[in-house]
Amino acid sequence: MFYVSTRGDPQRRAFCEILLEGLAPDGGLYLPKAYPQVSDAMLTRWRGLPYAELAFEILSLYIHDIPPADLRALCAKTYTAQVFGTEEIVPLRKLEDGVYLEALSNGPTLAFKDMAMQLLGNLFEYELARRGEELNILGATSGDTGSAAEYAMRGKKGVRVFMTSPHGRMSPFQQAQMFSLQDANIHNLAIRGVFDDCQDIVKAVSNDLDFKRKYRIGTVNSINWARLLAQVVYYFAGYFQATRSNDQKVSFTVPSGNFGNVCAGHVARMMGLPVGKLVVATNENDVLDEFFRTGLYRVRGAADTHETSSPSMDISKASNFERFVFDLLGRDAARTKDLFGAQIAGKGQFDLGEDALFAEAATRYGFASGKSTHADRLATIRDTWQRFGTMIDTHTADGLKVARGQLKSGTPMIVLETALPIKFAETIREALGMEPERPAGLEGIETLPKKVTVLDADKTLVMDYIASHCN
Ligand SMILES: *Cc1c(COP(=O)(O)O)cnc(C)c1O
Repeated sequence: MFYVSTRGDPQRRAFCEILLEGLAPDGGLYLPKAYPQVSDAMLTRWRGLPYAELAFEILSLYIHDIPPADLRALCAKTYTAQVFGTEEIVPLRKLEDGVYLEALSNGPTLAFKDMAMQLLGNLFEYELARRGEELNILGATSGDTGSAAEYAMRGKKGVRVFMTSPHGRMSPFQQAQMFSLQDANIHNLAIRGVFDDCQDIVKAVSNDLDFKRKYRIGTVNSINWARLLAQVVYYFAGYFQATRSNDQKVSFTVPSGNFGNVCAGHVARMMGLPVGKLVVATNENDVLDEFFRTGLYRVRGAADTHETSSPSMDISKASNFERFVFDLLGRDAARTKDLFGAQIAGKGQFDLGEDALFAEAATRYGFASGKSTHADRLATIRDTWQRFGTMIDTHTADGLKVARGQLKSGTPMIVLETALPIKFAETIREALGMEPERPAGLEGIETLPKKVTVLDADKTLVMDYIASHCN
């Protein structure tokens, strides 16, 4: 199995060569040369497997440069009931006939990003040890990504994390989650500014190639192929829980931001998992809904990017979307490069509405979409609590709202639960007039000692900090 860039870079790479990478050198994203196909016999064999074994089977189809015994051990070490709360790892819960929630948020940071990041932590530690190298991960977060990365990398050999976040702007619970970590290899840098300032600093530091090389700077952002691959597994696990035989289909609705999660669903479907629709749910930041309705992909400016009550979906562009467009265009790398390179850089948009291939997004690839607003979230959280006694978070509420518009009798709809309500307490109070449920073991984390350094929004301060904490 080799990986290629969506923009046509001729070099083919093996899994471990791209494991620690973000973008391909030509600015494209990595995808496998071809999607491995699953047969009916394979699905039948996989149906009864524990999650860690299922993960091993799927990952094995994509990773040929880690010995199978090692890969199996990495999966077994990652997907445990101790870390994810249940033996099923991603238990499916029926809400009503034909509508299910798949719980992806019972990992250490209570959001689905743990599903991939926990594996990434173990893969990084393994590969860095094999190479005898070290890596300093520099990131920017407004909440979920940073905490998932820190909990995945804490205590890992060969890895340090330097995570910037906007000072005073994350929820008290999110701050407590990150800043209470006392591990020597985890560094919280609270930047006096907004999230964009943090992101600009990360970009500026990464663009300083001498510094980047000298201090071995890396990232763990959502375009990393290994993260996406890890997410493919729970589409299979959800399918097996919702069906009894392989001639049944299911659909998925996915609360979407950067198109990473639902892109993993696309990969699962391309492998032959019997998926009907892949429904992309957005909040008021509806870049993706607009595309799937009209064919127009229009990157939003800062003034057009809304701060919402489902903040992990507040995006101005969808950084993984290029992967799907590459497939939609029949893997025409030159055209993908023109759309995401020249056209986005020039006009900030491209339009496939008139292209015959655009219709295939729905007909051949199963995509549908919808949008949800703050009022929809409140109503959906309230309704789900009143009718089913189930408390859902704001992102999952966006998913459930949009899913309801896409139900088809005979095809179960699985809504991916992407976070737990405790992470977004303010909106739960607004919707339900009560405090969100708090998982056992997290009582009082807001009062734990905090390890965080506050810095002005200046890249040289961040670089100095890294340089003096690298040994
Ligand atoms: C990251 C995140 C999303 C968006 O996922 P993408 O892979 O960026 O589409 C949705 N919900 C929650 C809670 C998240 O943390």
